[in-house]
Amino acid sequence: MTKEIEQFTQLGIGEALTAALLEYGIDKPSPIQAEAIPPILEGRDVLAQSQTGTGKTLSYLLPLLQKIDAEKKESQVLVIAPTQELAMQIVREGEKYGAPIGIGTIGLIGGASAARQVEKLRQRPHLVVGTPGRLRELLSTRKLKLHEVRTIVLDEADQIFQMGGADDVRGLLKGALRDRQLIFLSATLGQDVRGLASREMRDPVDVGIEPEQKLAKSTQHLYFVCQERDRIDTLRRVVRHYNPQRVIVFVNQTETIAEVEAKLNHLGLEARTLYGDSDKVTRATVLSQFRSGKFRLLVATDVAARGLDIPGLELVVHLDPAADSEHYVHRAGRTGRMGRKGLSVSIVTDRQAFIMRKFSRELDTPIVERALYEGAVLSPEEADERRSGASRRTPKKPADPSSNKRNETTASSSAARSHASSFGAADPVRSEAPQRAAAPSGANAGKPSAPAGRGPKGGKKQPNKDKGAPKWLKDKRSTE
Ligand code: AMP
Repeated sequence: MTKEIEQFTQLGIGEALTAALLEYGIDKPSPIQAEAIPPILEGRDVLAQSQTGTGKTLSYLLPLLQKIDAEKKESQVLVIAPTQELAMQIVREGEKYGAPIGIGTIGLIGGASAARQVEKLRQRPHLVVGTPGRLRELLSTRKLKLHEVRTIVLDEADQIFQMGGADDVRGLLKGALRDRQLIFLSATLGQDVRGLASREMRDPVDVGIEPEQKLAKSTQHLYFVCQERDRIDTLRRVVRHYNPQRVIVFVNQTETIAEVEAKLNHLGLEARTLYGDSDKVTRATVLSQFRSGKFRLLVATDVAARGLDIPGLELVVHLDPAADSEHYVHRAGRTGRMGRKGLSVSIVTDRQAFIMRKFSRELDTPIVERALYEGAVLSPEEADERRSGASRRTPKKPADPSSNKRNETTASSSAARSHASSFGAADPVRSEAPQRAAAPSGANAGKPSAPAGRGPKGGKKQPNKDKGAPKWLKDKRSTE
């Protein structure tokens, strides 16, 4: 276990940087910073498994900025990032903390004018940050020279590999000094990253923040089941219920993203899109407008939103379920950063619900089913009960699992409550906990359990004889 480190100075960070950090309200190192800063200052190779939102960028930038010799006009540190957005984010941090101590930073990213970047490179900025393709291109045309680079960082190394950057990275490593410090940061340490580390690193220091805990503990994970055609409407109701300032909405396909944007705007939800193919200027504008709160919903693909840091983002919605648990981790990691509360909501059809159970198992994290009923977020059973308006609890669907699931839902009710209040919404699940506790034994069967004034309304619309209908049909009828 790491001992509590109270101050950056205890880690060897100098006063100028510490003062700059304080200006941005950063006064205490995060756990990954406490672990990574000392070996990086010593010049050791570091392999860090870092879940996103833990302060990983500053965990390497601070010691590297400190080690840069600002007097020398040489490019001394190279940071490689998978996407333009992440690269620009790192550039911004580099400028924020580097400029006050005389350190120059440059971003070399695809999509932007290469000529201007080459021009700026002539001034030999100390810190070079870029995406693999553009860096490799500039290296092969000898515009970028790496013979003075003493440290190379791969940020989100797993993503660099997944996005096909392996060759570029190999080329860049080849073009640099043999005797350089290597730092790899990755949310997941797969074969590729481990392989490269074992080939290229010398006696690396492993920095792992609870490697088993891939998802931030402060994030709650829910899913809502609806019909395919009701996805957008379910999203609208989720947003209306939680009422967050900003939401990232993930979709799986670039082809339909404009249609999703149009539908959301039609519903008055102020949405804009971010996807891999959009040009650099548009992407930068969209992101800065989103950061400053000019619109509320950012509809994005996985690639576009990878590594994005939107401080205080309260809600991530998976309008399409993530492709696998690794993508889920990256998406959900946009919220709940630096210990803040976060909420990750997936919208799935009945046939996709098993995916949520699979992710939950693989990530060892509760991902809990919830249902929307008249604007309230309820357990599916309670929603059924309110719909039917009957005193008898509707039996669980056979697909709904096991004792394990029971624990999840019970645990989640208090978390759901705290979420609702943390977003300033009325607490929708006040009555839930006692009912959930009673549900497994069925002890409450036959007793009215809905709070006064809520239940009977739905009952008139949805008599018990509709019980045989599929769940989605009952859902649909009762909420219309
Ligand atoms: P990252 O994991 O690098 O994407 O950082 C997530 C966010 O945490 C960024 O907005 C950082 O500015 C912020 N941050 C980094 N280190 C700290 C710290 N020690 N205390 C508070 N906030 C921090």
